[in-house]
Amino acid sequence: MKIILLGPPGAGKGTQAEIIQKRYEIPKLSTGDMLRAAVEQGTPLGKKVEKIMLAGALVSDDIMIDIIRDRMTEADCVNGFMLDGFPRTLAQADGLEEMLKEQDTAIDHVIELKVDDKALVARISGRYSCAKCGAGYHDSFKKPRKEGVCDMCGSVQFNRRPDDNAETVSARLASYHKQTAPLLPYYKKRKLLSSVDGMASMEEVTRQIEAVIQGKSAAA
Ligand code: AMP
Repeated sequence: MKIILLGPPGAGKGTQAEIIQKRYEIPKLSTGDMLRAAVEQGTPLGKKVEKIMLAGALVSDDIMIDIIRDRMTEADCVNGFMLDGFPRTLAQADGLEEMLKEQDTAIDHVIELKVDDKALVARISGRYSCAKCGAGYHDSFKKPRKEGVCDMCGSVQFNRRPDDNAETVSARLASYHKQTAPLLPYYKKRKLLSSVDGMASMEEVTRQIEAVIQGKSAAA
């Protein structure tokens, strides 16, 4: 099963991809996570992309297509994958289609998480995650049961993404509308697109995504 999750920053793609990857045993391929790891490790790629990410702009298509091509050759992708944050431009979508065609395969579903722009800024600016296990939290919507202690692993250290500030969020939203939203008609034309209500509860969004994966929900 090869799935793309589409939606603006803060729509919940990462959270949902995490849940689906456990249930369906297909890995979540998050280009944002891969780039953040490169920045943290100080690799040449990390040095190249750090400023771009902080500005809320997009990394070049060539770099992103190469990263995904390499990642897809890894053993855990044999049964498919769930893409989170890729493709983000029409050129990336074309690149993906081509590389899958070369392997005689194709995307099965593109699932859009529809969310109000207004809700996104609040969602993103309050979010943080456990530094040890990565569990996600939010200042207003999802606090740990015991303040300052991760529910999942008990760690007391948390991280906030440096690009989760109000200024960068506006730039990221603008780049979503300009460069990524055109992927919706692109995939609709290919009859691959389904939309789910990203404003619903986390459990309900998962339910809607599973209905698409199981073929119980009509394409958009
Ligand atoms: P994300 O975690 O998906 O919100 O990505 C964080 C940042 O990484 C984005 O704001 C971009 O700067 C960069 N990035 C992630 N994925 C891509 C992509 N497919 N194309 C271009 N830039 C990307």
